[in-house]
Amino acid sequence: MAAVKNILKHVSPEIAGRRRKCYRKKAHVILKGEPCLVVHDGPQSQTTYCTVCASEILTKANGALANLHAHFTAPHDAGSQE
Ligand SMILES: [Zn+2]
Repeated sequence: MAAVKNILKHVSPEIAGRRRKCYRKKAHVILKGEPCLVVHDGPQSQTTYCTVCASEILTKANGALANLHAHFTAPHDAGSQE
């Protein structure tokens, strides 16, 4: 049986191996050993975010996921889409 597809492969948590800068705000510094969120935008492109921005990004993603979920868990009598 095929595994359930992971559609969030391009996002992963990492522990900073060295001092890094947050991609969203240069003033946000990620110290060595701190957790950070890495987003792979392409083969040669990845962006790193500090815990504060990561939290906001994940909150937004949560909303998007909930939105997606709603399309598939809505009651059958919810009506039709335009
Ligand atoms: Zn940040």
